[in-house]
Amino acid sequence: MDTVCELCNAMIMLSPQCACGGAMQDSGPVYDYSGPYSPYYNTEFEDPHCHHLFTCPKCGKDQVISVPLRPI
Ligand SMILES: [Zn+2]
Ligand SMILES: [Zn+2]
Repeated sequence: MDTVCELCNAMIMLSPQCACGGAMQDSGPVYDYSGPYSPYYNTEFEDPHCHHLFTCPKCGKDQVISVPLRPI
């Protein structure tokens, strides 16, 4: 079964509100987020999430948001 990230494929748009009131924007997926030093790293189970870095154009804050992958 294949999975797809709806955000990477522009199927959905996310613009979470920042603590400053600005709308955070998707800066793209972070492929090395689940590296060997991450507690989520597991070689046997694929992480069913795509991690996107969101940045706030207003205050410059950034945040990684995990987007659940959808089966296709
Ligand atoms: Zn994605
Ligand atoms: Zn902000």
